[in-house]
Amino acid sequence: MLAVSKLCAAHGVVEAVRDVDVQVPKGALVALVGANGAGKTTTLNSIAGLHKPSSGTVLVGGRNVTGWPCHRLVRAGVALVAEGRRVAPSLTVLENLELAAYAKRRDKADFQQQIGRVYDLFPVLAERRGQYAGLLSGGEQQMLAVGRALMTRPDVLVLDEPSMGLAPSIVDVLFTTISTLHETGSTILLVEQNAELALAVSDYVYVMHRGRIVAEGEPDELRSRPEIMTALFG
Ligand code: ATP
Repeated sequence: MLAVSKLCAAHGVVEAVRDVDVQVPKGALVALVGANGAGKTTTLNSIAGLHKPSSGTVLVGGRNVTGWPCHRLVRAGVALVAEGRRVAPSLTVLENLELAAYAKRRDKADFQQQIGRVYDLFPVLAERRGQYAGLLSGGEQQMLAVGRALMTRPDVLVLDEPSMGLAPSIVDVLFTTISTLHETGSTILLVEQNAELALAVSDYVYVMHRGRIVAEGEPDELRSRPEIMTALFG
C-alpha cells in the first residue's frame, strides 16, 4: 500500500534521513523505532507532506506521490497524525471532525457513518463533542487527532509518537484502539519512541539510527537479536 524507497531528507545542511526504504503492505501495522534524533519524524513528515524530501520516492497504492503537499496526500489516502497533536483549540470536537471530513470532500451519509465509527472507537469524543478542543486533556486531544485523521477514511494512517507525554493508562487506551484499527483492516505506519510498545502491536518493525534503517524484521525476530534489543532498550 505504501512503498518508500531511497528516501533522503535534510534540514538545511543537516542530512536527517538517508536512503530509507520502508514498505507497509495493505492491512499491516508497521513501526519505525529508534532513539531521539534518529530521523523518524523527518521520515514520516517527508512521506505525509509536511517536509519535502530531497530525493527518493513515495508510492501509495502504486501512485507516485513524492513531495505532494499534505492536502493532496489526504485525498490520495494518506492521513498523518503529527507529533504534538495540533488540534484546532478554538473549535469544538465536532467542528474539528467536520473540518477533517471536509478535507476529503465526502458526502453527508459517508460523514455520518465515519463519525459514528470514530465515536465508537473513542466514546469520550462523543461525550465531549460540543466542547472546545483546547479544553480537552492531552489524551483526549490525541484521540481527537486520531479521530480527525480517520474522518478522511485514509488508506494509510501515519501516526507520529501517539504516546508522547501521556499517562500510562491513557497510552493503554490509545494503543488498544490502534490495535482495534489494525484488526479491522486499517493500514498503519507508526513511529513510537517506546520500542517495547511498538514491538508489542506491530507486524513488522524498522529500526532507525542516525538517519538510516539499520535493522528490520518481525518483532520476534528482532527480540531474538540481542544487539538490537540493547540498542533499543539499553
Ligand atoms: P524525535 O523522537 O526526537 O522526534 P526523530 O527520530 O523523530 O527524533 P527527527 O526529529 O526526524 O528525529 O530529527 C532528525 C535529525 O534532524 C536530528 O539530528 C534533528 O536534530 C534534526 N532536525 C529535526 N528537525 C530539524 C529542524 N527543523 N531544523 C534543523 N534540524 C532538524
